[in-house]
Amino acid sequence: MKLRKMACYDDFRCVAAACPDSCCKEWDVAVDADSAAIYQSLPGDLGRDIRQTMYWEEGRWYFAITEGRCPMWRRDGLCRIQAELGHEALCQTCRDFPRLTHDYGDFVELGLELSCPEVARMLFAGADTAFTEAEVPGGEPPEYDAQDMALLLQTRQEMLSILEDPARPLPQALALALLYAYRAQGALDGGQLQPADPEAELSFGRQMAQPGDGQAVVDFYRQLEILTPAWRQRLENPQFPQEWDEKLRILASYGIQRYWLQAISDFDLIGRAKMVIFSCVLVHLLGGDTEQTAQLYAKEIENNWENVEALLEGAYAAPALTDANLLGLLLLC
Ligand code: SF4
Repeated sequence: MKLRKMACYDDFRCVAAACPDSCCKEWDVAVDADSAAIYQSLPGDLGRDIRQTMYWEEGRWYFAITEGRCPMWRRDGLCRIQAELGHEALCQTCRDFPRLTHDYGDFVELGLELSCPEVARMLFAGADTAFTEAEVPGGEPPEYDAQDMALLLQTRQEMLSILEDPARPLPQALALALLYAYRAQGALDGGQLQPADPEAELSFGRQMAQPGDGQAVVDFYRQLEILTPAWRQRLENPQFPQEWDEKLRILASYGIQRYWLQAISDFDLIGRAKMVIFSCVLVHLLGGDTEQTAQLYAKEIENNWENVEALLEGAYAAPALTDANLLGLLLLC
């Protein structure tokens, strides 16, 4: 099978004590069944302390957060389980984070999570996120239709080209990406992938646009589940800057690389495209340091499946997330 890996994947190193956020902060960690079984019978003080931090909810174990941190987190920024028992003793979630695996059967893609500040630093410093490809043993016959996956791979590449075109102002690139997503969706639904003239598409987009309401977009995110006080504070104080930070292209490309192929499971390209484009719009509207805001966004939204689902549904139903509002924010402001 093919192993596709972000070129920068192996460069990642956890910065532990130097991490400005930490994956041990604020969220309860889901513990896989194998690790939970080992922890349940672990002797000594460590075993006792781990068991005191674990709780059972809706069919799985978690580490509870105490005073905003995982109780296994030490003041030097290291994990007590890792320090005393080694990396392999970590539960699956902590072993993997921030590494992402998307297994499509006959190929696997390996990426990195933006919610890790060190990954955010790497990505916004220009780390190479293009996929390298190698043949490795293993794999299974895919459950998807090969033509559908070929179309998704082709259209993902074309989306990235639209977003990364330096000659195209960023808001226009995002608007073109939205309109391209509709053409790609049509092809995925059985039609032909129609070529389009970008200027004609932008003209059409301006006709569809209504005056952009940025506050409505921020308010939509305010009613999602919020994990950290820092995010709440950001959502309550949007800066609505005029200028678009070019770094948002990196956020858009990251999102497309991460989410586009997942449409193979439900054929919803529009929802994913809008989720990605709105992530750029929101980070823009909030203002401040793009890298920090994007990392916080990823921690709050991408690592919370309920929030992702709310966005995928909101893309079709929420008044704040209509195409007309999005195009207004991108083309009329
Ligand atoms: S968030 Fe990233 S850099 Fe920070 S402690 Fe976790 S893995 Fe390490």
